[in-house]
Amino acid sequence: MNEPTAKHAAPAQVAGIDLSCEICEYDHFYERKAQLNTAVASFFSLDWVDPTARCLICANCGYIHWFLPEKMLRKA
Ligand SMILES: [Zn+2]
Repeated sequence: MNEPTAKHAAPAQVAGIDLSCEICEYDHFYERKAQLNTAVASFFSLDWVDPTARCLICANCGYIHWFLPEKMLRKA
């Protein structure tokens, strides 16, 4: 994990939808950027791009929701 992008948990949206935790349905998250490993980057043929994921960590249970940047989805 890299440096935090937010010190406090906050509501988050993904693709315009309010995110609720997959596990406990809590609605506040810590947001981080994290490097994807090379296996994931290779799977999506992402040699050309910085393989960074958006991570939203549930402030209640700690579950980590991982998301590829939209630019990767369009390419994949
Ligand atoms: Zn949770």
